[in-house]
Amino acid sequence: MTDAATREFDLSPPTDDQLEALAADLDADERRVLLQHGTEAPFCGVFLDEKRAGVFTCRLCGLPLFTGGTKFESGTGWPSFGQPLAKEHLRYIRDSSYGMVRTEIVCARCGGHQGHVFPDGPPPTGERYCINSVSLAFTPTGEPLPDKLGRGAPEGEPWPE
Ligand SMILES: [Zn+2]
Repeated sequence: MTDAATREFDLSPPTDDQLEALAADLDADERRVLLQHGTEAPFCGVFLDEKRAGVFTCRLCGLPLFTGGTKFESGTGWPSFGQPLAKEHLRYIRDSSYGMVRTEIVCARCGGHQGHVFPDGPPPTGERYCINSVSLAFTPTGEPLPDKLGRGAPEGEPWPE
């Protein structure tokens, strides 16, 4: 974990008004995935080939969820990570839709749907976080994090090395 991961992010949920304002900024695909638990088509996500150092944040509320260094090529067609930035930044929900038992993950702050986690990832964690590109935004190292909820530092501050 980076130093930034252990910095205090304000995880209290947005108000209904804030959530509505954030949702108004989404396009149809983003809305379907983030708010209605949809899944984007494989191999078309904008972050599949994103290999720079930096951090992936929740597209809806801006909370940092994954670091670029934990992304790996899973061959599934969706961005895949071996671990989250911090487990407290995600909520894990049992999902038995489509006749499968899976673990859905959502942003712990705003509840935006991110994807699923599977127990078939590479070492050291053995986990595969399979995430929709449209659920994420990317901040390269050295550039300021989004601060969509006006929470202040560490949000809005440059993402450290
Ligand atoms: Zn969020």
